[in-house]
Amino acid sequence: MRHRVTRLDELESLVRLSDSERAGVVGRSPQFSFAATPYYVSLFGGPACPVRRQAIPVRDELVQLHTDLRDPLAEEEHSPVEILSHRYPDRALLYVTHNCPVYCRHCTRQRKVGDAASAPGSSELAAAIDYLHRTPSIRDVLISGGDPLSLSDSRLAAICRQLRAVPSVEILRLCTRNPVTLPQRITSQLVDALRIYHPIYVNTHFNHPRECTPEAALALDRLADAGFAVGNQMVLLRGINDDAATVIELNRWLLRHRCRPYYMFQCDPVGGTAHLRTSIARGLEILDRLRGTFSGLGIPAFAVDLPGGGGKVTLTPDRLVSEHEGRYVFRDHRGREFTYHEPPEVVQAEKFASHDDPR
Ligand SMILES: *Cc1c(COP(=O)(O)O)cnc(C)c1O
Ligand code: SF4
Repeated sequence: MRHRVTRLDELESLVRLSDSERAGVVGRSPQFSFAATPYYVSLFGGPACPVRRQAIPVRDELVQLHTDLRDPLAEEEHSPVEILSHRYPDRALLYVTHNCPVYCRHCTRQRKVGDAASAPGSSELAAAIDYLHRTPSIRDVLISGGDPLSLSDSRLAAICRQLRAVPSVEILRLCTRNPVTLPQRITSQLVDALRIYHPIYVNTHFNHPRECTPEAALALDRLADAGFAVGNQMVLLRGINDDAATVIELNRWLLRHRCRPYYMFQCDPVGGTAHLRTSIARGLEILDRLRGTFSGLGIPAFAVDLPGGGGKVTLTPDRLVSEHEGRYVFRDHRGREFTYHEPPEVVQAEKFASHDDPR
């Protein structure tokens, strides 16, 4: 973390920048920092490299569409206390730091990541814990940020301990990109300090097979060995990972390291990311290619987080060709058609149910 590359001259001594990248590093919004770990920089290829494009700003980052938003998921409106977002009845998201090893150029929270002054202190944490005590419907707490693993082992353990002291909290989720951006952070000391607070789910964020290094594999193996249930939330990015072959290669590697693909996200409409966003149709096409040809364990849900704060919706490719009187015609992954027949009494019961339905 201390050796992160944050300045243009440091970056230029390591990477031969394109004009567009130089313009991006210099002209980017001052609110959204640039930083990358030496490890992540070591994965960079040329300017089109899928790892490099996630980390180095380019000139296009200065573009703002009139439909772009600062807080696309309206997280601030759903914050009953400063460092907690509560959108769904049973889950809440806790922001414990705004620091990250790498500032991903597609980050949804770029309005606040990198701002050291906005790091929550112990009184904010106490207010969040108090809210959890008062809101027993919350059973699942996401420890997020920024990247929570930017905190020390002892600080993280203290947060987990306070969360575990809330009787209604059943599971903890640690949302971290460290296995991708700083895998050396996943030490045996770290996993030993946290595993006593199980069940802890870890959600990480691999986007491309070029991030799948021996160091990253060791980080995932260590987490799984210590009993963490590890999942991956990728973000579809144009020209980086928005094709089925790349997603399959990535997800096969993740499964080999006991990390289950959980979400494939449509990139949120946050300002400065238009050049990284791909179409929703493309996401559906990728899923359609996966289903039937690739292990179901490796198929994530395709999610769009609704701009304005509606929460996540998931989309699936339409395999239903027609439906009439309990006769459902589907197409398989090769385009052949197959029929499923419902029993007549089920069809009848459905008919009455829909007649009775006052809607
Ligand atoms: C995404 C999100 C969650 C977790 O949603 P899951 O679908 O359970 O993974 C919880 N709270 C907020 C505010 C979120 O944005
Ligand atoms: S690690 Fe997560 S919070 Fe940090 S910049 Fe990347 S996407 Fe944003």
